[in-house]
Amino acid sequence: MTDSPKNYQLICGLEVHAELKTKSKMFCGCKNDPFHAPKPNLYTCPTCLGMPGGLPVPNKKAIEWTIKLGLALNCKINLFSKFDRKHYFYPDLPKGYQISQYDIPFCYDGYMDTSEGRVGITRIHLEEDTGKLLHKTIKNEKVSLVDFNRGGVPLVEVVTEPDIKTAAQAAEYGRKLRKIIRYLDIGNCDMQKGGMRLEANISLNETSDLPEYKVEVKNINSFKYMEQAINYEMKRQAVLLNDDKIPTQETRGWDANKQVTFSQRTKESAEDYRYFPDPDIPPLQFTKEQIESWKKDLPSLPEQVISDWKEEFNIEERYSQLLIDNVQAKALLGSIFAAAQKENVKPNDIAKEIINKNIKFNKDSKSQEVIADYQQLHQTDDLDSSVLTKTIGQILTANQDAVTKYQAGKTQVIGFLLGQVAQKLPQKLDMSLVRSELLKALEN
Ligand SMILES: [Zn+2]
Repeated sequence: MTDSPKNYQLICGLEVHAELKTKSKMFCGCKNDPFHAPKPNLYTCPTCLGMPGGLPVPNKKAIEWTIKLGLALNCKINLFSKFDRKHYFYPDLPKGYQISQYDIPFCYDGYMDTSEGRVGITRIHLEEDTGKLLHKTIKNEKVSLVDFNRGGVPLVEVVTEPDIKTAAQAAEYGRKLRKIIRYLDIGNCDMQKGGMRLEANISLNETSDLPEYKVEVKNINSFKYMEQAINYEMKRQAVLLNDDKIPTQETRGWDANKQVTFSQRTKESAEDYRYFPDPDIPPLQFTKEQIESWKKDLPSLPEQVISDWKEEFNIEERYSQLLIDNVQAKALLGSIFAAAQKENVKPNDIAKEIINKNIKFNKDSKSQEVIADYQQLHQTDDLDSSVLTKTIGQILTANQDAVTKYQAGKTQVIGFLLGQVAQKLPQKLDMSLVRSELLKALEN
């Protein structure tokens, strides 16, 4: 190692895959529900199994959703697009090629803003997922099994520019992307099951220019692991660079138990996938009007809703963050908050009770029911004012030292005195009333 380690900056881009939750698969009519299939290889047909004669027919919904995601991420849309064959051999890919998009993806040149700056989005394309390999030991023999329920499920890939400067920014970008996909109601992004998969391209340089190498860390299934993997790579690569060595261009995996990345395979040069347009699928053409109408349909995104709710209903951001799951919940909550305001119930209080699960809320909830539930929850018993006055008098007499402190300006004793009054009175109290009566008594 050299005596004075240099300062390197992170240069990182992400590739995120997310399965779309269409009813059927990308190029056939098979059910798209790999996580709930009662047994392996149930949702298959000649097309998604790659049998001769199977003819792919693109899923219109999946294409529409991909373009909507692109519009939500400020992308430009290619009015002319096509599907290409990406050739490679692996047992989870029965055709010997994956239908993907090569040089003309549906969406390109977008961006997402994070707290650490803008992350450019290079492209968003649509492809089919592969089957799932299961490595097992059966009768003392190591075997690999393949389940094609997942084969042919629509999969979007969102690729960023190498604009990410810290591991925390990578995680923030990933979380925001997941939030938007869920909010648009186009994917579940269940990371544990592989419904969303992360890949980071990581290099270091003394300037912000792309260096001559990059390390890909693949198949990361949580944002926390991605952050850890990037931080680990930054240290590992800095040690090599300080030693005047260039890190090997390779694919690495993340070992969450050992907290290290490990080499999986070395890439000498770009792989040759022999891409060419899929001759079974005619190119796709969209009109400007079509794209404009999808753009108009697009709901305002979580960040916008959070700021609108703050303005309109005074909802705290920490509550909005938790409540804005998807576009339906957003619309319903908006109408509940508006109705609550009319009845002089603070929307923020309703938001809080929904999050604390003190009031029932689901997609079938009606505004009036939610407000009624809230009012019932906060209903207080009628209190005889003479009983309250008498109780306050007793408490003040019994706690003269607290009264003296209050008169000396230590107003925080009010909390203690309120507690004493509440203990004496067993019913559900309107504490603001008790407080104002207590203050009156203390001022006398
Ligand atoms: Zn099929």
